[in-house]
Amino acid sequence: MTEPRGVSRQTFLRGAIGALAAGAVFGSSRASADPSGWGDLAAAIKGQVILPDSGGQFSSAKSVFNTNFNGLTPAAVVTPSSAVDVQKAMEFAAAHNLKVAPRGGGHSYVGASTANGTMVLDLRQLPGDIDYDAATGHVTVTPATGLYAIHQTLAGAGRGIPTGTCPTVGAAGHALGGGLGAQSRHAGLMSDQLVSATVVLPGGTGVTASATENPDLYWALRGGGGGNFGVTTAL
Ligand SMILES: Cc1cc2nc3c(=O)[nH]c(=O)nc-3n(C[C@H](O)[C@H](O)[C@H](O)COP(=O)(O)OP(=O)(O)OC[C@H]3O[C@@H](n4cnc5c(N)ncnc54)[C@H](O)[C@@H]3O)c2cc1C
Repeated sequence: MTEPRGVSRQTFLRGAIGALAAGAVFGSSRASADPSGWGDLAAAIKGQVILPDSGGQFSSAKSVFNTNFNGLTPAAVVTPSSAVDVQKAMEFAAAHNLKVAPRGGGHSYVGASTANGTMVLDLRQLPGDIDYDAATGHVTVTPATGLYAIHQTLAGAGRGIPTGTCPTVGAAGHALGGGLGAQSRHAGLMSDQLVSATVVLPGGTGVTASATENPDLYWALRGGGGGNFGVTTAL
């Protein structure tokens, strides 16, 4: 989902961020000078837009599991609180030629859910319980839901799902990239169990991907790697 035009975008963002007069963390107030438009995004979503000059909050917001990547400086960390927020953020990214780094559980070994100059979309604030439907045998989760929490819910119903072993790895990064674990010889990868996903495409359009809706996207999501085909808001 990234575009190979990072240099001009970074130059633009550095200039724009430097020009911000106030309000590094948006949410309830607008910056008085905001040529980059971050204030517009902040006003449009219910989640937060956290900018580099917000100090400790930005340091915390940009942190990932592999601390080797915590020195990187995204242009902003955006924390959507709904799928609609994600759509607005993706529209904003397209309009401003921003690269986007979606973040589920933040456990990428290679720091793929952060990068210099990107808009990190940290999906940990998306609301939603782990929803197990005994009638269909399907479980629905938000992207940052930890693997342990899924197992805990399913175990209560006498069910299970193949996953890796780290309890705090996020469902999205894990399933979209495959998801290999102790049950895989018996039950395959986590991605093999994906029935459908809701996805916000680059540009902001929300779609469902399943065997019957957008089947090509559904195929790509099952192991094609997180962050390549849109932002998944539920699986
Ligand atoms: C301690 C540890 C143990 C592990 N054990 C295993 C194991 O046993 N088996 C195994 O298969 N793997 C294992 N992994 C690897 C892990 O499954 C991957 O790193 C996985 O991608 C992490 O997912 P995440 O959502 O937590 O990470 P993130 O860093 O949030 O995301 C990983 C990638 O997916 C993208 N992404 C995240 N959320 C979304 C979304 N909602 N929409 C679109 N793209 C998204 C990100 O941009 C990034 O490219 C382990 C990792 C760690 C750190």
